[in-house]
Amino acid sequence: MSDSTTETSAETALEEDLEAGAGAEPREAELDPETAARRKAALAQIRQFGDPVLRTKARPIERFDDALREEVQRMGDLMDDAIGVGLAATQVGVVHRLLVYRIAQDAQLAALINPEIEWSGRDTESMEEGCLSLPRVLVDVDRPIHVRVRALNEYGEPILIEASGLEARVIQHEIDHLDGVLILDRTSREQRKEAMRNLREAEQAA
Ligand code: ZN
Repeated sequence: MSDSTTETSAETALEEDLEAGAGAEPREAELDPETAARRKAALAQIRQFGDPVLRTKARPIERFDDALREEVQRMGDLMDDAIGVGLAATQVGVVHRLLVYRIAQDAQLAALINPEIEWSGRDTESMEEGCLSLPRVLVDVDRPIHVRVRALNEYGEPILIEASGLEARVIQHEIDHLDGVLILDRTSREQRKEAMRNLREAEQAA
């Protein structure tokens, strides 16, 4: 690897992160100070590994009111500040079935409420994933490439999403959060061990 990689712009880092999968970690050295500070503040509001809420199964949402729509907006802002591509309500300590994601930077924020994977394709692929609740952890996760998901939007209207590739991966990652499942549960024993070691080291450093 050449020295020029240290000059990579935040935008390039972000693109690489999007390729790396859901909520992957940008290298902080590559963010400008303002963006880095905003990201740090956002991460402080996101529940981190070890918090029992991340292992809680979230309950279905029954009320589709202004409070819910405000929550969607707040989660979207937090996800953007944290430079993530997806966020589940459990990650902010709210145990109901809501997730938000945005795959392309210019795309509209998508909110899925009470999502159910109705169908998964047989083909799977392994990709590196990160998670806003697991700082500095990247592990390979094998997931179906194509899924069909039924959900409600923030107005309680039914939506059907046929997703492939990164979108399918992010949705599956966030639905896992609503069931208390983390990427550590979906990777190899070796990668889980290494990730746990990194998490412990980060904890000691902090
Ligand atoms: Zn996550």
